[in-house]
Amino acid sequence: MKWEYGRRKKRTGNRFLVLLILLLGALAVAGYALMRSGVLPWPPKVAATAHGDAGSGTVAGSSTDAGGGTVAEADTGDPGEYVDSQFLMDTYVSIKAFGQGARDAVLAAFDEMRRIEAMTSRFVPTSDVSRVNQAAGLDPVQVSDETFMLLEKARECSELSGGAFDVTVGPVVDAWGFSTGSPRVPDPAVLAKAQSLVDFRAMELDPVQKTARLAAPGMSIDLGGIAKGYAADRAAAILRGRGVKHALIDAGGNIVAVGTRPDGSPWHIGIRDPRGSSPTDTIGPVVKVEDEAVVTSGDYERFFIEDGHRYHHIFDPKTGRPADRAESATIIAPNSLDADMLSTAVFVLGPVEGPKILAGLDGVSAMVVGPDGQLTFSPGFRAN
Ligand code: ADP
Ligand code: MG
Repeated sequence: MKWEYGRRKKRTGNRFLVLLILLLGALAVAGYALMRSGVLPWPPKVAATAHGDAGSGTVAGSSTDAGGGTVAEADTGDPGEYVDSQFLMDTYVSIKAFGQGARDAVLAAFDEMRRIEAMTSRFVPTSDVSRVNQAAGLDPVQVSDETFMLLEKARECSELSGGAFDVTVGPVVDAWGFSTGSPRVPDPAVLAKAQSLVDFRAMELDPVQKTARLAAPGMSIDLGGIAKGYAADRAAAILRGRGVKHALIDAGGNIVAVGTRPDGSPWHIGIRDPRGSSPTDTIGPVVKVEDEAVVTSGDYERFFIEDGHRYHHIFDPKTGRPADRAESATIIAPNSLDADMLSTAVFVLGPVEGPKILAGLDGVSAMVVGPDGQLTFSPGFRAN
């Protein structure tokens, strides 16, 4: 009985092995076919989790260029095209570039983005931002010209948005646990204390000395709503500087189009449906751009659900709680630094107040998905 069992087991094992190999082979072929067709995104985006980052507020539909499968494919076989995807600034960044020298240009662009991350991340202890945060309530800290420019831009956006955008939001982000990877609803007393420390007016900037100082201990600067945008602009500048005429950068929902597609037509960008069942579901019109940025802030990028309520990573400084006036806000702008901070600001303000702050800004427009899923467009939102 024992022997029989053993023999049968052995035979079944062999058959099983052959079947397994056949099945794996079929799966690999099918998976590759789906990837090439753009149905399966690659690399997979860590969507809708508290720690990961779905990255893209923009997606690739069959007719679009950004996000998902089309951008991130490893090798398309076109000798003039180079595509790469790397994890940096806490998100997947994909760059697709065309023409001679595309590969070296893309790699240099990634290096540039890592340089900016090292300077601006508050999770890198030696960064400008960390040094300013460590000295909160103490002495002014000298920072690089670039960091100083970003802090000035952030303050401008705070003023423009009446404080809906606030670069000193760090304590509130920490209170909700989004910086530690274990988000939770904070104790009301902890949240109240954190919220009392958020005030962009208490960030002192000295344009002569290029120093920054936070007035009170415990305050902290968080460039999460703006640094990726700047990094994507810098990546575009590196590509252009190396002669690349056609490229698309997707830094976790921050899209920058360099020139047109190689055939001279504009890049097609799809906007992710905040409540779509798949990250490749789009909403609204396909946006057609060249030499412009399209940036989306959404409540689906990082969130957790507790007691049936969605808590996400973009906060209303006035309440200290996740902003609840929009599901997403998309900005089209000449550069992605502006688009990034404005998308965060308009997201917090929502479809009624948000688009108003764009009125005096040249070439800037917005599409807001309201809490009810309704679309609101600012004047000049060009889709076609
Ligand atoms: P994402 O980084 O997911 O693309 P955003 O550009 O809108 O989305 O930036 C969100 C990040 O900005 C948060 O993770 C946090 O670091 C920071 N942030 C959150 N709320 C605000 C706010 N009201 N003003 C400025 N920055 C914010
Ligand atoms: Mg932003």
